[in-house]
Amino acid sequence: MGLHDLDFITKRLDELKEQGVYRQLPVLQSPSGPRSVINGKEVINLSSNNYLGLANHPRLREAGKKAIDKWGMGAGAVRTIIGNMSIHEELEEKLAKFKHVEAVIVFQSGFTANAGAIPGIVDKGDVIISDELNHASIIDGCRLSKADVVRYKHSDMEDLERVINEVKDNYSTKLIITDGVFSMDGDIAKLPEIVELAEKYGCLTYVDDAHSSGVLGSSGQGSAHHFGLSDRIDVQIGTLSKAIGVVGGYVAGRRNLIEWLNHRGRPFLFSTAAPPAVAAACIEAINILSESTELTDKMWDNANYFKKKLNELGFNTGKSETPITPVIAGDDRKAVELSRRLFEEGVFAQSIVFPTVAKGAARVRTIVTAAHTKEDLDEAASAFAKVGREIGLIK
Ligand SMILES: *Cc1c(COP(=O)(O)O)cnc(C)c1O
Repeated sequence: MGLHDLDFITKRLDELKEQGVYRQLPVLQSPSGPRSVINGKEVINLSSNNYLGLANHPRLREAGKKAIDKWGMGAGAVRTIIGNMSIHEELEEKLAKFKHVEAVIVFQSGFTANAGAIPGIVDKGDVIISDELNHASIIDGCRLSKADVVRYKHSDMEDLERVINEVKDNYSTKLIITDGVFSMDGDIAKLPEIVELAEKYGCLTYVDDAHSSGVLGSSGQGSAHHFGLSDRIDVQIGTLSKAIGVVGGYVAGRRNLIEWLNHRGRPFLFSTAAPPAVAAACIEAINILSESTELTDKMWDNANYFKKKLNELGFNTGKSETPITPVIAGDDRKAVELSRRLFEEGVFAQSIVFPTVAKGAARVRTIVTAAHTKEDLDEAASAFAKVGREIGLIK
């Protein structure tokens, strides 16, 4: 019971254990791929965000190795002191072309892009109008800004209009923020309606494309491109950590916005630049996406194939419109049991429970990738069928 025993932390951990929500991290003992070794067992991996199989792609590995030989391992400083290597600028130029925007600024992750961009754009006297299911990094970015935050019901356009009407006369800048694709249900934000409302009431729009970068748009440019709205959405956030297969985040938009974040985006100013090998591998990933739609086509084909199989078996896959396909199990214990039994049958699909999703909507979430084969998916569907019947989710 000494001062340094941190007993108050132990008490909190015990509370997690009592509530049944204490967990051990699963351990990946091979590269992230369609089949991976997890906790000592080779299984079909349905839980990565490695949508296009780029995380372990030979061309990215090669680009990373070459960059290490040329540039070394670390950038040596924050971008604003002397960590700004020409390869970082090359990546930003490449992304700006790819996204059809004036300019791009790269952050260390999607999380820090939100944590830097939101407080960089809005301040005291401004208001953020935020979808209630927005990602944690958006919520934290909002908290770091001094703006007021109001929330609207998830993708409910009537409620969005109601909220806008409540705040529209009281603030200077009004910023609507939404995920492009929502990570728990795989539904796409109603951007055409959001943009209509935003323009009607003089609001700016901010879309976080973490789960749409490399997924939506003709070559994976994201949700704005998917809807043909690239020039009517003011701020597009992308991640380099999911479909792009490496790590990093970025803000895409007007040149003045990007220049401003270069001066005031705090993680950009106060946290070291990405290793050059990371920038090089990201450049190679964008090259691959620009050359052909082979990987995105394969991913969509696989995702549709697997979703159809799950639906034919009688599973509830919610309102998914993307490769994110939840299998709704109901209560928390059932979702945990589904995931545990699937693992025994050779399939890794992580369960997601309250408070990450609403009570009664616990699920396992699957993400099918371009790297899976039809045999992988058939085998995974058989495991779902077997376990689903066993625990009474399907007949
Ligand atoms: C995953 C995710 C992020 C974080 O991206 P990282 O590059 O992994 O930090 C941000 N926003 C949303 C909506 C996400 O799903």
